[in-house]
Amino acid sequence: MSTFWSPGVAALTPYVPGEQPRQRMIKLNTNENPYPPSRGVESVLRHFSCEQLRRYPDPESLALRDMLARTYNVTREQVFVGNGSDEVLAFAFRAFFVRDGEALAIPEYTYSFYPVYCQLYGIELQKIALNDRWEVPLEHFPEKGHAGIAFANPNAPTGHAHSRQDIKALLERQRERVVLVDEAYYGFGSESAVPLVEDHPNLLVTGTFSKSRSLAGMRIGFAIGSRELIEGLERIKDSFNSYPIDPLASAVGIAALEDTQHYDECCRAIMETREATAQALKDLDIDVLPSRANFLFVRPTRHPAADVAAQLRAAGILVRHFGTPGLSDWLRISIGTEAEMTALTGALAAMNQTP
Ligand SMILES: *Cc1c(COP(=O)(O)O)cnc(C)c1O
Repeated sequence: MSTFWSPGVAALTPYVPGEQPRQRMIKLNTNENPYPPSRGVESVLRHFSCEQLRRYPDPESLALRDMLARTYNVTREQVFVGNGSDEVLAFAFRAFFVRDGEALAIPEYTYSFYPVYCQLYGIELQKIALNDRWEVPLEHFPEKGHAGIAFANPNAPTGHAHSRQDIKALLERQRERVVLVDEAYYGFGSESAVPLVEDHPNLLVTGTFSKSRSLAGMRIGFAIGSRELIEGLERIKDSFNSYPIDPLASAVGIAALEDTQHYDECCRAIMETREATAQALKDLDIDVLPSRANFLFVRPTRHPAADVAAQLRAAGILVRHFGTPGLSDWLRISIGTEAEMTALTGALAAMNQTP
């Protein structure tokens, strides 16, 4: 607490990122990709000319936006890029959801950064309870008098994804406010809402290179929506920072998008490992929710989840335990390589041998 801080800063509850340990550990706590980025990315890094760094980058990031537009079959004007999708989300909340007297509707359990942006911008929140299958009940979202809707699909930390048809039905009832669908975990078996952008000017889909494209360290995120929404985001961006995408990030992002074969192979491997791990965990008496993301949300039944997380940590394996009321019986486990998941299930089996 400092007297130099603006009023309200001391009261903020900032987002707490998953731990990045200094020692070597099996990291299954922040949903990073266990596989390296495309070889094309390596080649970009090796041949990148230092001379380029003398100049400011393209403030419109046209090259990267064009490549994203080709990848997602939309136009450049329908694409926005930012320094990680967290930044894109921060801009979107400012651009669309700051509305006096109206609350933003989000699922009760979802990406924990959403409430943080709301607190920062003074956006009121309306939390919608999940159903008994831990799914986001789209039919419970308000249709009038709200500031908008935001949810992750697949949702975090549960892993459930709605079909494009479900989201289309939601959009038929949502005409007045922006519906933000966060597709950070697209690529692992869910359907994208991007094709709905054409007919729904209030739909904003966000995505990231951090998970399915193995580039969490590079910080590249994007949004796809109508020209009207993208223009709103650009107004906020240009009121914060004109150059969120540096030339290295742009070149790396383009190389990653070009290598569709590598992307498909990594995603397929992660989905196969996910299904094998889910079965192995069930065999150890652990409850597992179905997942279309690169993580599993699981409930140990023999020992408290916090103890399991602590014992795994002692065995050199990090998983995510949320202290949040309602989630404290659960663990979120990222999908690593096959070998890493075998180490995980081995450590859990050993725990089952002890009372
Ligand atoms: C990881 C994650 C993000 C943020 O991704 P970055 O692009 O790395 O900032 C956004 N939304 C959800 C739901 C995530 O899990």
